Parts: sequence; structure tokens; C-alpha cells
Amino acid sequence: MKNIQLIIKDNCPTEYVEIIKFYWELNDETLEFTNKPKGVRSKFNIEQPKLNKIIQPNSAITFYLHCKNCNSYEFIEVNSQSTFNILFKSYNSSRNIFKCKHCEEIANLEKQKEQERERQERLLELDKAVDEKRWMNLNSFQYELLHLCLTKSFSELKKHYWSKLGENRYGKLFHELKVLAKMDLLEIDVDPWNGRIKAFQYYSRMKENFIYNPAKTETTAYHQDFERRETSQLRLTLTIDKSKFHPDSPKYAGLVKFKQRIVIEPDVEYSFAQWERSGDNLYFVLTPIDEIYPAPNQTPIVRVPTSLQDGIRDFLESINPENGDW
Ligand SMILES: [Zn+2]
Repeated sequence: MKNIQLIIKDNCPTEYVEIIKFYWELNDETLEFTNKPKGVRSKFNIEQPKLNKIIQPNSAITFYLHCKNCNSYEFIEVNSQSTFNILFKSYNSSRNIFKCKHCEEIANLEKQKEQERERQERLLELDKAVDEKRWMNLNSFQYELLHLCLTKSFSELKKHYWSKLGENRYGKLFHELKVLAKMDLLEIDVDPWNGRIKAFQYYSRMKENFIYNPAKTETTAYHQDFERRETSQLRLTLTIDKSKFHPDSPKYAGLVKFKQRIVIEPDVEYSFAQWERSGDNLYFVLTPIDEIYPAPNQTPIVRVPTSLQDGIRDFLESINPENGDW
């Protein structure tokens, strides 16, 4: 920062000159203003709006800032202390490297080009999914969901699945939307703060090529029933093997038969918990985090956002073997 100069406009009323000089008084060493606006207001007994009307149209401070990027000096003019302070702070901060307008423009253009390139790459991935007719690999729930995504708004979709799945299984909607996105059949906007899906978009070629024909897929009564009997939660009671004689034989052993098909998917984050209860039996549960609360994939439980930690704790409390139906 160099050549700091106070400019008083030629047509400035003379009675303002003293106020203006007082307002812009600058410590040459620290580059801090000697008089804060509050001090100016009380010395001359004026309100802030009046002070603005005196300072802004009639005066300015000009200086040059060095652009390290192209090694040039950029002329700057500011007409309030606050604008000066903000610029000065950012100019001196180690993170914010000052760029002149020219360099800023070039940087913006490069950023745009980069975004465009990323978009083109993304379109190639979406194209590939259409070309491969990847929806043929979906189960009937996902197939119908994709169809509804192409024909309904997000709010209609949520309403539909809220009534279809009920409160307890509602999280399945968000989990499956993420599966569709991973398969490049859909694009989702995820809130980086809480991992919730804010919106979804489909690719126009997807809509043009996708054919929804549920009769040809597995939506027979048998499969509908099968799907209803499908769960992504594993609950297991590990019983003590009372006949354990040898120290090397397992402590817990037994047979188990599940009433529902249990689907455990790769690349999905699960929350697990285990309780020791009466009779020394062990209770074990494994649940996808998305089904508890649609949230980002993070570990371990202490590092997930508080809302999610609460969600998991509430959830674990609700399925605690002492309360729940095992
Ligand atoms: Zn520059």
C-alpha cells in the first residue's frame, strides 16, 4: 500500500473541510484512523446519516495496492473508513492475496473454464449411464423411484414416500436417492453442513431414454411382498453357548433365522451397537446412518454433527433391547 492521499472534491462546501480532515486523520505507521466515526459524530455533534452525506460525496482516500500476481500497482479509491479497513485487513492477511482487476478477471475466467470442464466430464458420466441403460440394474423400489424423480417435484416425491414408507422407513427415500446418484442416474444437491439432500435434477437424455414399464420388472405380488419384507437393519441376539466346555470354543453360538431379507450394501455407512443384557446374551444391531437421519458419511460417533449424534443416540435408545421388540 503506497501513496495514500486524501482527496477533497473541488465543490466541497468549506464548512465540511474540517470535519473531513478530522474523519480521515490516519496514523502513518499503523495505518489506523485516529478518529473513529463515533468520535467524529460527538465532536461535531452530527448523526451518522449526516456524516455520510458530508464524507462520501465530498472526499475520498486514494492509494495503490501491489498485485503480487503481475507485480503491478492498482489505483484504489475508497470513501469510508470501513471500506478502507476491510481492504487493508484483507490486503495484509496471509490467506487473501490481493489481485488487481486484471488478474481477478483472468482468475475468474480460469475458474469458469475449470467448472465448464468438470461439467463436461460429469455429462460424459451421465451419458454413459444412459447408454448402458443402467436403470435395468435397479431393484423395483429404485426403478419406481427413478420414474417418480423424472415425473414429480421433490416435494411431491417426499409426500409420496412419507405416506408410502411411514415415518420409520422414510429415510430409505434419501438413502435410495443417494444410490441413484452414485449410479449416475440422477444428480443430487447435498447440504455440506448436514448432508441432507436439498434438491435433485435429472439429465434430459435420461428422461428421453428411460422407459418405465413396471409390468416387465419384478413388481409381482410376490416381489412386492418380498420387498416389504426387506430391511437394511441387522438385529441379532447372540446367545451364550451354555454347553461350552473347551476354552477355545466360542462363547456365543447358536442358530438364527431371519424373518426378512437383510440387505447390506457396500459404500454405505452403518452405525453399530451392542448391548450385554440379562443371561449374558449379547444384542447386536447394524443400521445404515441414512435410515436414522439422512446425514453425511462420517466416523466415529463423537465426530459426527451433534444433530446426527443425537439422532443415533435417540435411535439406539429406541431399539435398546430393554425397550425394543427383539
Ligand atoms: Zn495483477
